[in-house]
Amino acid sequence: MKYYIIFGPPGAGKGTQSVLIAKKYNFKHISTGALLRQEIEKRSEIGIIAKAVIEKGEFVSDDIVIEMVRKVLCNNEDSIKGYILDGFPRTLNQAVELDKVLESLGEKISAVLALVTDDEVNIRRIQHRANIEGRKDDADFDTIRNRIRTYHKVTEPLITYYKSQKKYKPVSGELSVEENFRDICKIIDSE
Ligand code: ADP
Repeated sequence: MKYYIIFGPPGAGKGTQSVLIAKKYNFKHISTGALLRQEIEKRSEIGIIAKAVIEKGEFVSDDIVIEMVRKVLCNNEDSIKGYILDGFPRTLNQAVELDKVLESLGEKISAVLALVTDDEVNIRRIQHRANIEGRKDDADFDTIRNRIRTYHKVTEPLITYYKSQKKYKPVSGELSVEENFRDICKIIDSE
């Protein structure tokens, strides 16, 4: 089984590329943001906690997201060839716990596909997406700024973690969707 992480700041295009990757390679797409939004829709206990946090542009607790991902990964699916993790891990603790879950399954991360984009591009894309998807966390400029700030402070240090494991594979996220996808496929195909 293959385990890819798609990595990058909010607005870099992780979700868009994940859908294309999942379709082409027969991977299961796990988006922690989408899973959390489903919980919010259901008004579950997790959803109620997550809603307030997400709308402030802050992170949901590690325990909640790790457990959500662990459940999906441990629920053996024979019909797929791998997983594409989108929006997870976002903290060093999540990355360490993910490695532990995979180790318990006798597996490991195949590569970290990192979309490299400029903050201004990300902000423009999120503001554009706000009109299309109607996400509350996309609608407010301070929330967007907060998410990007948190990315630099808390998530970006993961680059060093994955570089030290020789898993970090950067591509420009500022090209067209097709060009970006082509560059990602080159990495996956060379594995
Ligand atoms: P984006 O990457 O554009 O911010 P996501 O859908 O991946 O969009 O995430 C939306 C929000 O969901 C995040 O801002 C955060 O509040 C929460 N979230 C998603 N994934 C995680 C995670 N791994 N850890 C903590 N919070 C998360």
